[in-house]
Amino acid sequence: MTNLARLTADSAPGRAAERDDPTYFCTHCGSLFDPSQGKGERPMRRRVCGECGLGVILTCSKTTLDSEGAVFLVVTSDLRISAASEAAEGFFRIPEGLYGRPLLSVVTSPDGVGDLARHVVRAASGSRQTVTMPVEAASSRLPAGAIAARIGGCASPPAALLVIETARA
Ligand SMILES: [Zn+2]
Repeated sequence: MTNLARLTADSAPGRAAERDDPTYFCTHCGSLFDPSQGKGERPMRRRVCGECGLGVILTCSKTTLDSEGAVFLVVTSDLRISAASEAAEGFFRIPEGLYGRPLLSVVTSPDGVGDLARHVVRAASGSRQTVTMPVEAASSRLPAGAIAARIGGCASPPAALLVIETARA
C-alpha cells in the first residue's frame, strides 16, 4: 500500500530523489531504467523489456541493484526462483536453467540456510530493507569460493531479489 502511494508520488517532477529511489530493471538482460527518463505520465508497469524483448520490467530499491547486467535471482516467498538474469544463468551454469528451481538447491550460505531463507522470505513479504550476507553456490560444478548476496524486495508481484556479488574480474 505505501509502495503504491510512493510510486505515484514519485511521478511528480522535482521531488522523489532522496530516499529509497526505486530502480526499474529487466529480469533477463539486467538493463536498468531510470523512471525519470521515461515519458513520465505514469509509473512503468510490469511489461516486456524494450532492450532484449525477453524479460519483464520489475522495480526494486537502488540499494539492492545498482549496476547493469548483474547476476541476480528473483525468488518468491516459497523460495522458488521465478526469474534469473542472463548473467546469473551464465554464472550458475545449470543445464536445465534456473527458472522454477528451489533457491536452496542453487545457493546456500556459510551463515546457515535458515538465515538465508529468513532474509529471502522477509524481502519477498515486502520489507524495504536490503541486507548483505555471504553465500556460496550449492553446486560443486562451480568454482569454489564465497560470494555475497544483497537481498532486498522487488515488485511486482512481490518477491525477493538476490543480487550476487561475484569475485570475477
Ligand atoms: Zn531486457
